[in-house]
Amino acid sequence: MNCKVIDKVTLQRLSDIVGEKYVLTLDDDKAPYAKDETLNLSCMPAAVAKPATTAEVSVIMKLASTEKIPVTPRGAGTGLSGGAVPVCGGIVLSLERFDKILEIDPDNLMAVAQPAVITNNLQLAAEAKGLFYPPDPASLESCSIGGNIAENAGGPRAFKYGVTRHYLCGLEVVWPSGEVSRLGGKTIKNVSGYDLMHLLCGSEGTLAVITEITLRLLPKPPLSVDLLIPFPSIADAVRASTAIVQHRIIPATMEFMERKAVLAAEAFLEKKAPFREAEAHLLVQLDGDDQASLVAEYEKIGKIVSDYNALDVLVAEDRPARDRIWEMRRCMSDALTANSPMREREDVVVPRAAIPELFRRLQELSHKHSVEIISYGHIGDGNVHINVMKQEMAVEDWERMLPVLLDGLFRDVVALGGTISGEHGIGYVKKRFLPLAVDPAALAMMKKIKAAFDPDGILNPGKIFL
Ligand SMILES: Cc1cc2nc3c(=O)[nH]c(=O)nc-3n(C[C@H](O)[C@H](O)[C@H](O)COP(=O)(O)OP(=O)(O)OC[C@H]3O[C@@H](n4cnc5c(N)ncnc54)[C@H](O)[C@@H]3O)c2cc1C
Repeated sequence: MNCKVIDKVTLQRLSDIVGEKYVLTLDDDKAPYAKDETLNLSCMPAAVAKPATTAEVSVIMKLASTEKIPVTPRGAGTGLSGGAVPVCGGIVLSLERFDKILEIDPDNLMAVAQPAVITNNLQLAAEAKGLFYPPDPASLESCSIGGNIAENAGGPRAFKYGVTRHYLCGLEVVWPSGEVSRLGGKTIKNVSGYDLMHLLCGSEGTLAVITEITLRLLPKPPLSVDLLIPFPSIADAVRASTAIVQHRIIPATMEFMERKAVLAAEAFLEKKAPFREAEAHLLVQLDGDDQASLVAEYEKIGKIVSDYNALDVLVAEDRPARDRIWEMRRCMSDALTANSPMREREDVVVPRAAIPELFRRLQELSHKHSVEIISYGHIGDGNVHINVMKQEMAVEDWERMLPVLLDGLFRDVVALGGTISGEHGIGYVKKRFLPLAVDPAALAMMKKIKAAFDPDGILNPGKIFL
């Protein structure tokens, strides 16, 4: 779309709507809103507006739709696919003042929150009432619930508890036209008409602005225990994880780290990792209501994994021991950044049984392009975080090599029955690859949906589709 320059009259109208203090127009003030956590992507908006009420969002959207001004909704800016970057300029609509938890409702097992509430704060508020909001993106201390809905965020607990979508029960939204709707509410069931609410979940801020969210909660399992299990090969770790499930044990999390990832964490933390010689580590968390069942489960796991050449099973029951074994996994992103400040992070997903073959293909890609690839992720649901490390490679070689490598990687992933993003979304950076993962008829249908919701193409333009 053509990027419309915002004139003084429009800027004044924005100030009239939200107050002068909440419209940013100076470059220094706008700079933090020009980017998210995506590498090498930045675009200055004409203005940043910070509304505090749904009514203000509605008037801004009416203004934008009359004047045909691009609007990019923004949560906490932790996105990894450029979703909150205003690639067509216009207005960044920062929801940061929508930061209140409105209700934790133990009778209905529901939480009602504004979109800028930080995910961890919602989890803590639920826990204070003995309740549990399971979705746990690794960024949970800095990302917002609104961004989680827009991206349908997942995390380690997705294997047992599902992703953000599975907890979404109600939304208040402002459509691109400025009209306001409430979808769903505090009911688990709702089949009244098309399920627009769940269509918005994962729509990356391209169909509506989210201004209020109702989420399902669970009772908090009181006990949990962590196991660190080293294996001599990735294939052994994958087969053992499948065997655990086949024995009817569903861990809360089943994470894995390949050896290169463990060594990077070791260098970053400056401490020796346990079982550093192992090619793969499984990190299993069990949760439940009574100690005896948990002990029975982990003893059973001990027997199962020994059939798959496990080198040991480290059981951590108290907080310090558990923190020690999660420390490596939690620092992984920082450890890899320390290893190579420039790196490409992908979050492909394949059927779990295809993980060994994915790793074989990653090795081929690494040799073919003479570049280090380091991976870790959620073995339970087949979601692998693949990091292509620039390290000492010259910038021009990196820029020439990366698109070719990614094209090969994504084709491999799709051939294995997977898809190109399990968590981070398509956003701006992956849109050229979307046709590899979605067939032409489905892609055409998605574009028609976008046009039906946003006929003028003003809401988060330049995202998802080429
Ligand atoms: C270190 C690190 C670890 C991460 N780990 C995970 C992980 O484990 N799992 C995972 O899923 N993701 C992960 N992420 C990615 C990111 O944190 C998630 O995508 C998160 O959901 C983004 O939330 P946000 O509030 O930062 O959204 P933003 O980055 O601000 O925006 C993301 C998208 O949502 C849209 N949006 C935001 N708020 C609204 C709203 N109110 N209405 C409409 N659209 C809106 C934006 O337009 C944009 O398209 C990680 C990121 C980092 C930096």
